[in-house]
Amino acid sequence: MLIHRCPRCRAEDISADAHPVRVIRADRTEIVPVCRNCYRAAELEYRLACDNAGIPYATLPIREGLFALADFYERRLAALDDPDLLLEDDDRRATKAPVQAALADVRRRLAIEPVRDA
Ligand SMILES: [Zn+2]
Repeated sequence: MLIHRCPRCRAEDISADAHPVRVIRADRTEIVPVCRNCYRAAELEYRLACDNAGIPYATLPIREGLFALADFYERRLAALDDPDLLLEDDDRRATKAPVQAALADVRRRLAIEPVRDA
């Protein structure tokens, strides 16, 4: 519960450093957070899966990826706030801090208005 491993390599802790990629599961595309190391390979796998399934490939819209990341970090923070998780207050604060920083960064990027042509 304290660390959240990358679902692809099961090695890296992605609690505060996740990267959104898409996977095709049961004919549906889902966004899954993976670690930095897996990001490119996972995107390539998605591209190949699209090709095999006859689905036109398009890059993940940035805001869609950011919303998925914000959701992921919010769930991590909620999990760390769970009173059943036996943590001292200081440990809880210290464990949450990098996740909160990652969420703040995602929210900051989401708050940037798209640049429009004049
Ligand atoms: Zn990984």
